[in-house]
Amino acid sequence: MHYVSTRGHTAQQNFSEILLGGLAPDGGLYLPQCYPQVTADELNAWRTFSYAELALAVLKKFASDIPEADLKAICDKTYTGEVYRNTRPEQDAAQITPLRVLTDADGKSLLLQALSNGPTLAFKDMAMQLLGNLFEYTLAKHDAELNIFGATSGDTGSAAEYAMRGKKGIRVFMLSPHKKMSAFQTAQMFSLQDPNIYNIAVDGVFDDCQDMVKAVSNDLEYKSRQKIGTVNSINWARVVAQVVYYFRGYLSATSNNQQKVSFTVPSGNFGNICAGHIARMMGLPIDKLVVATNENDVLDEFFRTGVYRVRKSAETWHTTSPSMDISKASNFERFIFDLLDGDAARVAALFKKVETEGGFDLSGGPGSDGDEFKKIAHFGFESGKSVHADRLTTIRQVEKNYGITVDTHTADGIKVALEHLQTGVPMIVLETALPAKFNETIQEALGRDAERPAGFENIEALPQRFIVMDTDVVKMKAFIAEHTGL
Ligand SMILES: *Cc1c(COP(=O)(O)O)cnc(C)c1O
Repeated sequence: MHYVSTRGHTAQQNFSEILLGGLAPDGGLYLPQCYPQVTADELNAWRTFSYAELALAVLKKFASDIPEADLKAICDKTYTGEVYRNTRPEQDAAQITPLRVLTDADGKSLLLQALSNGPTLAFKDMAMQLLGNLFEYTLAKHDAELNIFGATSGDTGSAAEYAMRGKKGIRVFMLSPHKKMSAFQTAQMFSLQDPNIYNIAVDGVFDDCQDMVKAVSNDLEYKSRQKIGTVNSINWARVVAQVVYYFRGYLSATSNNQQKVSFTVPSGNFGNICAGHIARMMGLPIDKLVVATNENDVLDEFFRTGVYRVRKSAETWHTTSPSMDISKASNFERFIFDLLDGDAARVAALFKKVETEGGFDLSGGPGSDGDEFKKIAHFGFESGKSVHADRLTTIRQVEKNYGITVDTHTADGIKVALEHLQTGVPMIVLETALPAKFNETIQEALGRDAERPAGFENIEALPQRFIVMDTDVVKMKAFIAEHTGL
């Protein structure tokens, strides 16, 4: 399986080659030359597979350059009940992503697929844990090392640290805005004592952290000498790892391949739902893929109107579903490439236009850049939006009607899913975090604390390991060099 850039760069690469890199040299994103197909017979055979077996079956179609026995060992090590152990009491951790039926009335069913039972209680663990093991494997093979350098406002940084802790050949340098994350998120990251994890609290806001990452990454000589890499959401291996749970959700919700299901996905950078799109392109019988956004509704606007308009920082709201607070959706280009039938020259032109004019218009109206919006329905996409008041109402209703507490992001998903239910087609909402991570809003909605999984009771009281630094790029570079010894 070879990979190409959405902007036309033609030097083909295999899975291992794009694993450690980020963007393609032309600024595009990598996609496989064609989507591998899944036959009805395969799908039937997969019905009895464990999660690890299913992950291997899907991954080997994309990573044919890794020997199957090695890939199997990596999947077996990643997808265990031990790693994804933070299930609710009534759930079976060995299922990894258990489904629960919320309602099944009038032929309309709503199901919740739990993706947040990993070490950091958010769905990013589903892919990041695999990435940690893939990185360790690839680096050992080439006797290489990698220094991951990134910025986080919460979920991504902690998922990366828990995936890379103790891994040979890998160090993580993670910037976060000093005293700006929730106490729980701070404790999750800073309580890690592993010597290969460096938490750097920057005196500033998240944008300052990101600017420092950009400044360091733009120094190509330094970046290559220090072997710096990233684990952001455009990473192809992360997207592929996420494809697996769409298959799992489908197979758990159906008894034969004639049935279809729909998914609703709380979305930010379009990474999660992009994996659903890929599963559908591989032949998984998905009816609708419903994009749920919060107040930051760039994607809802596109899927309603065909106009993609990225937001300025001043128009990007800080909400109570903060992991969906984005101004532009970094994985969106992968879908646009498919929508434009793989016309890389047009993709390149449109995303140039995003940089110069802040967006593009595929509505087909006067002066628009194309009329592909009329094809959106072929891809199953629909969308909706949920705001703070909706989250509170949904959290209360879900507790009252089904006796469970959902987090704010999942609440956005449920609110939008209820607007898109169809008779005879089960709707699966992806649960992207556990409520303990966003306790302030749970308190506001329910007047009590969110339950915490075992082992997290006193996390704020654990000793913390971090350094504080001002927004000084020279100091930052010196700190990294001192600890890598390169
Ligand atoms: C990252 C995240 C999202 C958004 O996922 P994307 O892949 O960026 O669309 C939603 N909910 C939670 C809890 C997250 O951590």
